[in-house]
Amino acid sequence: MLALLCVTIILIGDSAVGKSNLLARFARDKFYPNSKYTIGVEFQTQKIGINGKEIKAHIWESRTFQSSHLCLLQRCCWSSSGLRHQQKADFSQHWTTGRWLNELHTHSDTNIVTILVGNKSDLNVIRDVPTAEGKALAEAQGLFFMETSALDSSNVAAAFETIVKEIYNILS
Ligand code: GDP
Repeated sequence: MLALLCVTIILIGDSAVGKSNLLARFARDKFYPNSKYTIGVEFQTQKIGINGKEIKAHIWESRTFQSSHLCLLQRCCWSSSGLRHQQKADFSQHWTTGRWLNELHTHSDTNIVTILVGNKSDLNVIRDVPTAEGKALAEAQGLFFMETSALDSSNVAAAFETIVKEIYNILS
């Protein structure tokens, strides 16, 4: 029996990785090529169907970690800011995703289900972070992994559904 029909999802990650646009694409099927200030999406409620059940997801961009069930940790596929440093030393000191993970672990319920999302997969020609590297990092950290594009919509709904399905499985 599912105890939870309503989940809270937070989107975290560096500025400009596409958090607002991912949410805008998922909730409104919209994309904003320019400033995030035109978007005006910081919170959305969206219904997600899992195994014939309807789960209501409250999705927040950069809200407090507490009381969140699910986390979408986002970075860009094409930005090398950090991933290259991973080999140099403790990646948590040098990689922005590592820092976000530390934040998450410090401030959230340890049971939070997290997906590492590599956004802007449409910019494949200038990609700087190979899929395999993102995948390996996610695996090492026990995270789900997916590459998305808010621009061409690929995997956007799938990313949200993956983590909602996981928490559904844990709680049902
Ligand atoms: P946020 O600061 O993380 O919320 O990032 P935004 O959603 O404001 O996006 C920052 C910039 O990246 C904007 O110019 C967006 O149009 C662009 N952007 C966001 N997602 C994508 C994507 O999937 N592909 C491409 N090519 N650009 C994107």
